[in-house]
Amino acid sequence: MIVKVDFTGPVHKAWSESGHEIHAHTVIIATGASAKWLDIPGEERLQNLGVSACAVCDGFFFRKQDVAIVGGGDTAAEESTYLAKICKTVHLLVRRDEMRASKIMQERVVNTPNIVVHWNTSPVEVLGDDGVSGVRVKNNKTSEVSDLPITGFFVAIGHKPNTEIFKDWLTLDESGYIVATAGRTFTGIPAFACGDAQDKIIARR
Ligand SMILES: Cc1cc2nc3c(=O)[nH]c(=O)nc-3n(C[C@H](O)[C@H](O)[C@H](O)COP(=O)(O)OP(=O)(O)OC[C@H]3O[C@@H](n4cnc5c(N)ncnc54)[C@H](O)[C@@H]3O)c2cc1C
Repeated sequence: MIVKVDFTGPVHKAWSESGHEIHAHTVIIATGASAKWLDIPGEERLQNLGVSACAVCDGFFFRKQDVAIVGGGDTAAEESTYLAKICKTVHLLVRRDEMRASKIMQERVVNTPNIVVHWNTSPVEVLGDDGVSGVRVKNNKTSEVSDLPITGFFVAIGHKPNTEIFKDWLTLDESGYIVATAGRTFTGIPAFACGDAQDKIIARR
């Protein structure tokens, strides 16, 4: 795990977690992107016990069960229609009274009978001891709080590129993606960036 880099001189330096110093004339950055989390009680504790940020990876574990998914973009729309093919009921929690997803994706969501869209709704706590047993939600208009019984809780609110350690040396865009020559990997210095750390369109999938 690289925790620090120094790209000042002709020889780039990188330090690993254990303090090992690495020298290189060229660096290829392929650190990817990580799912964003909500940071609500129960979310971290119940990860791998019913909380997931990847419906395609984990949806199968919730066959014929009731699940909830959080988000209003294309990812949430795509993942909720995917889950609807496997699960009994999919509760889609959308914090506003509209979705950011493309029109065609929204139509697919509302035309899927076992997807229940909860508008103006935010999760406030994931419930459960050894596994997810429900989600506590708040209506953002009325402030009413209620519990939805579910066994799977999916978070689909986007990804954050793992580029923090490069911010002093390379140009990052407003979302933290490394800026490279259009359609290429060159960053302007002998450091090349590829994959989800650089390509926000692929990373958003
Ligand atoms: C649900 C889902 C479905 C997808 N489906 C498809 C699909 O069907 N087709 C498709 O083409 N793509 C798909 N993608 C996208 C694809 O998975 C990614 O684009 C691809 O994995 C990106 O590769 P990467 O090497 O850039 O990053 P990653 O695969 O994320 O790898 C990054 C690696 O860097 C390591 N790392 C991070 N920071 C550091 C550090 N500081 N020091 C050392 N190591 C570090 C990480 O531990 C990780 O091993 C999907 C993505 C998701 C989330």
